[in-house]
Amino acid sequence: MAINYSFLHELIKKNPRIVFLGGAGVSTDSGIPDFRSKEGIYNVQSKYGVPYEVMLSHTYFMEHTETFYDFYWSTMVKKGAKPNAAHLALASYEKRGLPITILTQNIDGLHQDAGSKAVYELHGSTRRYFCQECGKRYSLDEIEPKGIPHCSCGGILKPDVVLYEEPLDESLLEQSVNALRFCDTLIVGGTSLNVYPAAGLINYFGGSLSILINKEATPQDGFFKYVIHDDIAVALKELLKP
Ligand code: ZN
Repeated sequence: MAINYSFLHELIKKNPRIVFLGGAGVSTDSGIPDFRSKEGIYNVQSKYGVPYEVMLSHTYFMEHTETFYDFYWSTMVKKGAKPNAAHLALASYEKRGLPITILTQNIDGLHQDAGSKAVYELHGSTRRYFCQECGKRYSLDEIEPKGIPHCSCGGILKPDVVLYEEPLDESLLEQSVNALRFCDTLIVGGTSLNVYPAAGLINYFGGSLSILINKEATPQDGFFKYVIHDDIAVALKELLKP
């Protein structure tokens, strides 16, 4: 069925307070691979002999810090990656003074690079690091993306990223729930909605217009009023244009 973008565009104009919940698919056009994709899963397993859930777990980080960082620097961090048309469409909505909150499962900082201010990074950010000994904070620009990064005190730096076995930030979750309760429109894109607890957030949506953008069908399609099987950047440009 053809997607009636102008119809949805008009509906959004009448329901302008938006929460956008996004996942890896938002950043793949910026050259950041989805490590949860079939190919990503295969690459980790074949190179390191463990699944990515193990590689990106708190235990693995503590016990195999060097291998963790080898994977992390080569796969999770793409210095020089630029925001793509999807990031820019979301940012332009906010720049026009319209209310939008971005909840992202991505850790690449590209929404902020595009100019978005109201961004909740549910899984943290590869742009930030902290010393496990003294707590001193570092930005990605301040450290060499190679081997195990150390603090000036000698302590090992940990990325400010939520690893498996680690809880999500409570206050960030609370703010996300509030944003969802008091918005008109929920747009979900670039995620197959199978990563919890972020995916469970959609149950707090208190508005009336819900739209899912994903190339392939997801188990959660039935939750949404409208489902768009199209490219995320194309869809966002159409839905959020002036
Ligand atoms: Zn330190």
